[in-house]
Amino acid sequence: MAPPLTAAQILAALRAEGLTVHEVKSWRTHSRAGHGAWGPLNGVMMHHTAGVSGMVDYCYNGNTDLPGPLCHGVIDKKGEVWLVSSGRANHAGGGDPAVLAAVVAENYAVRPPATHQHQGSAGAVDGNPHFYGFECVNLGDGKDPWPAAQVQAMVRAGTALCRAHKWGAKSVIGHKEWSDWKSDPAGPAVAMPTLRGYIKAALAAKPGTWTLTPAKPPAPPTPTPPRTTEQRLTDIEKRLTALEKKG
Ligand SMILES: [Zn+2]
Repeated sequence: MAPPLTAAQILAALRAEGLTVHEVKSWRTHSRAGHGAWGPLNGVMMHHTAGVSGMVDYCYNGNTDLPGPLCHGVIDKKGEVWLVSSGRANHAGGGDPAVLAAVVAENYAVRPPATHQHQGSAGAVDGNPHFYGFECVNLGDGKDPWPAAQVQAMVRAGTALCRAHKWGAKSVIGHKEWSDWKSDPAGPAVAMPTLRGYIKAALAAKPGTWTLTPAKPPAPPTPTPPRTTEQRLTDIEKRLTALEKKG
């Protein structure tokens, strides 16, 4: 449970993790203020956009049915972050209070408890006050690839906000872990237990040093080539000569 980071704190946290960050228009003041609470903050939610072109503008503006901002940052396929809001955003919607409790306590094993709620369901709680959201550019059809640079940026973005709030990796969930009618983020490359494992490792490392591709292990030492028969004969001759001199 924590008060929200300021825009300056969000920006600094993301850059400290080595991310390339773009500030879009009036993101520092662009929010859904007046349509519900913003805070206390409890975690970070990962999404896929389900579209690939014009996603930054779309997430800034939203549409008639779902006014923007639709997240805090868009993570593109190059792994660059586009900030569209630093306040309440329309991204999480309704979800399961049992999941929120598990995120707050960070007391689950591999996955939070299965969600049984969604936007408008009887037992749902509004997630928008409690989660930062990243919309990651991907069709979400399970075929559209997730480039390593993008996955790395997702890990670094989650790590940045966890580090700033002193949260662990279990404070980062996927939208599908929050709402039972959502499927994002989709694809084995962005399986949430895997991402949380990466975030845990990144949090244990110095800010900005964790990379998705581990450094190559040092090359093994070059083995000494076996001695040729000729060399061995020369050795024997030398030893014999030495013995002869001694005798
Ligand atoms: Zn989503």
